[in-house]
Amino acid sequence: MPRPRSSRIIKCDPVHPYFKPRGIPLKDLAGEVELTLEELETIRLYNMEGLSQTKVGENMGISQTSVSRHLSEAHKKLATALVLGFAIRIKHPVDIYHCESCGHTWKYLEQVTPESSCEKCNSEKIHTHLHTSKN
Ligand SMILES: [Zn+2]
Repeated sequence: MPRPRSSRIIKCDPVHPYFKPRGIPLKDLAGEVELTLEELETIRLYNMEGLSQTKVGENMGISQTSVSRHLSEAHKKLATALVLGFAIRIKHPVDIYHCESCGHTWKYLEQVTPESSCEKCNSEKIHTHLHTSKN
């Protein structure tokens, strides 16, 4: 049984889930900030696409208050990373699917419409759980 979905809608699929200052080994970094997919999507729609906060909220299925909160969190994290030379990690929720018929296991970025059958044998006897990737 796929778990019920929240109403938020996220269309961005981060190409690079991790950014760090060039030439500095991971172990020597001063720190790291973690952006959620919601925060990334709000800055994509608001700062990149230039939508109003109200429009961003409509696009994502969340309130304008939540948009405003995600924006200030995202801006604070990005500013911290840029000013202090921190790495930026994008938190990547993925759904792990397992097929009971053929034993196939696969994963997808958390989707609005969950998979309903096995990608290998088409069986509908699948189950899923959320896993937050550490990359
Ligand atoms: Zn299968």
